[in-house]
Amino acid sequence: MIDFDDLIHNFLKRELNEKKIGKYYPSECGNCIRKSWYSYKTPKETDKDLIKIFQAGNLIHEFIVDVLKSEKNPEITLIGSEVPFKIELDELIVSGRIDNIIKVELDNKIFLVEVKSASSINFVDVPSESHVMQLQLYMHQQNIYDGLILYIEKNTLKTKVFEVKYSFNIIEEALNRFKALHRYLVLDELPDPEARIERDMNWQCKNCSYKEECYKATPKNILP
Ligand code: SF4
Repeated sequence: MIDFDDLIHNFLKRELNEKKIGKYYPSECGNCIRKSWYSYKTPKETDKDLIKIFQAGNLIHEFIVDVLKSEKNPEITLIGSEVPFKIELDELIVSGRIDNIIKVELDNKIFLVEVKSASSINFVDVPSESHVMQLQLYMHQQNIYDGLILYIEKNTLKTKVFEVKYSFNIIEEALNRFKALHRYLVLDELPDPEARIERDMNWQCKNCSYKEECYKATPKNILP
């Protein structure tokens, strides 16, 4: 019998990518700082099930791009779906290509749309703070002041959308997070287990590859 799980795994397998301290990725700005820190200090191959989840998210993104560029939706103009990103701060650089962002025009207004797939949208009443932070950073770099976070339920393609207005305070916070990560890395100091402390970030622990190290370094009973 053909093992399709294996075939998919082989197809999606990625090389282990060592990250260089001083170069950061825009998609990381809302990530738990401790998780990002580990990814620089002790890089690991992404778990094969997680890679499949990411790929499912990519397929949803491609589907939305098709929906937005379709002639059946003439009121929307798709301007771009792969946005290059670069911001230089004192001794670090944040750069990369933003894949999950779409630029659209509606009624002569340009929106940046961040697409997020979710297993259920029933309980999504507000957008996640880390998703808002990411979008704000992208809006800042693209000089676009209107954003949308679009959540799509994987099994049903039902959607929920939230409008996000440009906020310089949130952008400053996002940039400060990169500076903080950089400081922790240069000083070789482990940051607090942020996603275990901040309720809104708890979901990030679920698929974290560094859970074991994190709990070993900071057992539950000594959480700050
Ligand atoms: S387990 Fe949670 S708190 Fe710890 S590094 Fe991973 S995401 Fe961060």
